[in-house]
Amino acid sequence: MPRAVAGSLVLGRRGMLRSHNVMRITFLGTGTSNGVPVVTCSCDVCRSANPRNRRTRTSILIESGETTVLVDAGPDFREQALREEITSIDAVLFTHAHADHTHGLDDLRPYCCSRPVHGYGDRATIDDLQRRFDYIVDSSKWTPGRPRLVPEIITPGRSLRINDLEILPVQILHGEDPILGFRIGEFAYLTDCKAIPAESYPLLDGVELLVLGALRYRRHPTHFSVEEAMREAERLGAAQTYLTHICHDIEHEQLSEELPAEVQPAHDGLAVEIEPASESYDGGVISKRFGT
Ligand SMILES: [Zn+2]
Ligand SMILES: [Zn+2]
Ligand SMILES: [Zn+2]
Repeated sequence: MPRAVAGSLVLGRRGMLRSHNVMRITFLGTGTSNGVPVVTCSCDVCRSANPRNRRTRTSILIESGETTVLVDAGPDFREQALREEITSIDAVLFTHAHADHTHGLDDLRPYCCSRPVHGYGDRATIDDLQRRFDYIVDSSKWTPGRPRLVPEIITPGRSLRINDLEILPVQILHGEDPILGFRIGEFAYLTDCKAIPAESYPLLDGVELLVLGALRYRRHPTHFSVEEAMREAERLGAAQTYLTHICHDIEHEQLSEELPAEVQPAHDGLAVEIEPASESYDGGVISKRFGT
């Protein structure tokens, strides 16, 4: 049975949604771009028998009563989809176009049989996808058997609606590069983040379930360290924060013990449920409905 962790949050393995009103976040992958274990590495974490030290490339699945949204489609997407038995996807949100977030796109094929899947990203991400995955994104190149993704450009601070989910793109900085995080109700997902610009903090006000990237203990030019993520978690004040995009410098149980209960490392397969919020974040809602 899922275990209640704080307020309306419920933690456990993915199963049936408890009720139509619940939103569930499943960590499909929690590893950095190499994944863990790292090919060729024989460090203690890479050789660990603890499944929580096996991290596929970072991605989450968001499910509500009506909607299933994938955030990023990394090179491990196929394995993740098999493991979690993902039977449908209504849309894909892209944080940015780096390989570890997009190189599973070809494996969206089974989800595009009856209709194309819509893929949302900022202009830089969509431009990049159009260059690198033209056969998926350009409808003039679609042929039977190929994945079909309808590109949709989204803007930080401007909400979009996918069925029953209202999603707010939030700008964050991945080193020098502006990329997107996402807020849905009281949940926010900020991976590959080195800094949160001042104008994005108000958009994260009231978040109770937060996911932050935290690469390793040592500093890195384009990702939060554990210490930097802790500082942001404290500033944002969510009831529960999970860390993701973790490299092989971090042993899961050790970090879990070092951190307070309200900030913990996520692991592949972790599922968290949260009641959806009812408020909307701005007037500019892009509305889309998929499915029946
Ligand atoms: Zn990444
Ligand atoms: Zn290693
Ligand atoms: Zn990246």
